[in-house]
Amino acid sequence: MRIAFYGTKPYDKIWFEPMGKDYGFEIHFIELPCNEDTIFLANGYDAICIFVNDYVNAAMIEKLYDMKVKAILLRSAGFNNVDVKAAEDKIIILRVPSYSPEAVAEFAMAMLLTVNRFTHKAYNRTRDFNMSLNGLMGTDLNHKVAGIIGTGKIGQAMINICKGFSMQVLAYDPFPNHNLDVEYVSVEELAKRSDVISLHCPLTSDTEHIINKDTISLMKRGVFLINTSRGRLIETEAVIEGLREGRFGGVGLDVYEEEEGVFYEDRSNDIITDDNLARLMTFPNVLVTSHMGFFTQEAMQAIAVETLENAYALENGLPLVNRVGVEAAN
Ligand code: NAD
Repeated sequence: MRIAFYGTKPYDKIWFEPMGKDYGFEIHFIELPCNEDTIFLANGYDAICIFVNDYVNAAMIEKLYDMKVKAILLRSAGFNNVDVKAAEDKIIILRVPSYSPEAVAEFAMAMLLTVNRFTHKAYNRTRDFNMSLNGLMGTDLNHKVAGIIGTGKIGQAMINICKGFSMQVLAYDPFPNHNLDVEYVSVEELAKRSDVISLHCPLTSDTEHIINKDTISLMKRGVFLINTSRGRLIETEAVIEGLREGRFGGVGLDVYEEEEGVFYEDRSNDIITDDNLARLMTFPNVLVTSHMGFFTQEAMQAIAVETLENAYALENGLPLVNRVGVEAAN
């Protein structure tokens, strides 16, 4: 199988290059992202391999179909960046549904601990021999209420971590898992009662802007909001307004509505034209990271194994257990 591998970073090659050879695949590593301008590079390949900030819309599906590309191999669990309906009957979409839910949940807790206990500021201060504690006071998590939106694999890992901190856990999920020791409530009740809100649901038409002006108005003053899921779950301007009004104790964003083309790149010499992103960076209690919740050695290795297993199954006519269809997208 010949695979056009978009958005290549050095850390992708560590696993995909040797493993691809073991499978006998010819992988062409392309640094450019997959978008309308670069889709022509897939000509002559059997499959394209893409990540979260690449996209494949309906027009690009048509081009892939014309180029006889058979599959889209997602190196991610989420598939909101591919027009699944347009691909139906034309191109097979395969994803990596689970690689290390703990990696993302542990990162969500790291973000919470950072914005709560200001370890990022303390690090900088002590390097400068500024040993003052002014402005670094946090709050105990012990016995506080964590509200988890989405109780799938990552949500459950986050619940376990929160329980390790002796937190009480509330949850919202339209498909509750009654094996979990949590109290399921509505989004509104979760917003009202939680001291920490962490998002772990997929981005769908139902969840887009699930955190908005109205939900924020219900939240406790001093609430911590953590998003390691997808940027568009949050209405950024409403969060900025809430931050301006001093409603949040802290906000941790590993994902951002307009992250495509910005995250994963070094933009330190560029003029930032995204005013909302620039504004977010000005708040002392906001931590923005570059969609890196997944980024552990274990997860990267598992992503490579599962992506190539998906390609192997396709090539050898084996069951496509990780196929994404219209039903799954709905
Ligand atoms: P999962 O499929 O195991 O769980 C998702 C859960 O969300 C399910 O329980 C589902 O019932 C629930 N859900 C569906 N619709 C909902 C709604 N309207 N409201 C609330 N909950 C809803 O997925 P997962 O592996 O736990 O991943 C969750 C999300 O995390 C992914 O969709 C992806 O967007 C994100 N993610 C981020 C990173 C990162 O690096 N930051 C890495 C992997 C995944």
